[in-house]
Amino acid sequence: MALRLSHEILELETKHPFGIARGTASLYRVVWVRLTDEDGLEGWGEADPSAFYGETADTVVAALGRLAPLLPDDPFGLEKAEAALAVSLKGNAAARVAISAALHDLVGKRLGAPLWKLWGLDPAGAPPSSFTIGIDRPEVIRQKVREAAEYPILKVKVGTKDDAAILRAVRAETDKPIRVDANCGWTAKQAIANLPLLKEMGVELIEQPLPPDDLEGLALVRRASPLPIIADESCRSAADIPRLAGVVDGINIKLAKCGSLREALRMIAVARAHHLMVMVGCMIETSLGITAAAHFTPLLDVVDLDGAALLKHDPFAGATIGGGRVSLPTGPGLGVTKR
Ligand code: MG
Repeated sequence: MALRLSHEILELETKHPFGIARGTASLYRVVWVRLTDEDGLEGWGEADPSAFYGETADTVVAALGRLAPLLPDDPFGLEKAEAALAVSLKGNAAARVAISAALHDLVGKRLGAPLWKLWGLDPAGAPPSSFTIGIDRPEVIRQKVREAAEYPILKVKVGTKDDAAILRAVRAETDKPIRVDANCGWTAKQAIANLPLLKEMGVELIEQPLPPDDLEGLALVRRASPLPIIADESCRSAADIPRLAGVVDGINIKLAKCGSLREALRMIAVARAHHLMVMVGCMIETSLGITAAAHFTPLLDVVDLDGAALLKHDPFAGATIGGGRVSLPTGPGLGVTKR
């Protein structure tokens, strides 16, 4: 008997309006996906759609309707199952990864082991997670930095006309390590002009300074930059990685971009083969979505899994980043429970 798919749209609200170079929002709609087997065992996954990648909660629901008939009878057929989903819908990565996570959750529950254990990983090996300070007025940024006191590394959103004021506001409150993410907000010329400021502010890496397709510009910025450049919007899946080698210093994996947990593992392998740093990031999402990505953090250099920590209310309990430390659950599968 095939697995039964059900879904529920969840509305999330961030503690502060969350501002990035493309815009600001505080309400997000995500989709909780459940696969139920004949014994009533459930595998859970989360779709965190982003309009930038052409998805909304409504397109996720439509995609789930199309993907449900392709679900395997046996969740252990992960490789074949994910391939069938990807052949049917080339995009819709957020919808596909919710099913991928649910299948992996179900496999772990059937075997009675957490996913990190099935992957042979040591949870103690996960690098610390950063916590993001969204774009805002300097006085609000200072307030956010104070509220983020427990996190040892901050990721600061930039890509505006006021980047110097944003960084000075952060530095007025703390001297902890900071990383910046311009979310495609600069031109190559602007990015290069900003390098002395970033260096002066003690920034340790720069995420996606330029628009996704400006690889020539990225290569110019990288040559001029004393700081590593990480591709996020320029890198959706493993196939994007070879052409980024020599253009950037690393890639940022997000499940909502790559569409499957196994694809995330392939991205890590391909990036390593090209001597690239590997980071994991997230959308605004609950602990269910965050935990699916947290399971492979022991394989990474840089972790930014603060999506659930930015929420007013998190409907799930799973991996946590308290004090910046990534703690993986010990329960079977994803190890996520409803709060
Ligand atoms: Mg980013």
